[in-house]
Amino acid sequence: MELSEVSRSMLFRCPLCNADIMVNDDTSLLTCQGCQAVSIVERRHGTIALKIHTKPTNTTKSQDRKLREPLSLGKLTKELVELKQESSTIRGRKIVGAFAGGICGTLFGYMGSLDLIGKDFGSGVTMLVCAAAAFGFLRFVMRDSAASASSINGKIEEIEFQIAERQKADIQRLFRNGHLD
Ligand SMILES: [Zn+2]
Repeated sequence: MELSEVSRSMLFRCPLCNADIMVNDDTSLLTCQGCQAVSIVERRHGTIALKIHTKPTNTTKSQDRKLREPLSLGKLTKELVELKQESSTIRGRKIVGAFAGGICGTLFGYMGSLDLIGKDFGSGVTMLVCAAAAFGFLRFVMRDSAASASSINGKIEEIEFQIAERQKADIQRLFRNGHLD
């Protein structure tokens, strides 16, 4: 019993690429790990033979290539330009926001101080609260645009890298084709 269980799997060679293939007793179809060819296990008169069932096709390879190159160079460049525009918009918003927040904060603070000196406590406190809010807004704008700017810069770097890679691949392809011709 134990002996027959040990001999249930046998070592064969792939009919296409000669790679080692393990054939189990209950296997009828198996895929070669070396060339991805699918072999059929034929059992006749107590002998076992492997016969090619499906040869590996190139379609899977070309699909891989399609997945690896999702965007054309033109699309990448277009996206890069858009991201750079967005980045400069954020920079502009940051300057305007900082300017507005700073001016308001300073103005409210100044008026609040004047009111306090003039002993108008109610108005003075209100002004100082507004000043604090304005500076809070200023800090928010700064932090917010810093975060979005760094995420956009990350995207820009990634796309520039992809463009460089694409150009490198194109140059290599041209070089290879030149040698093949
Ligand atoms: Zn094979």
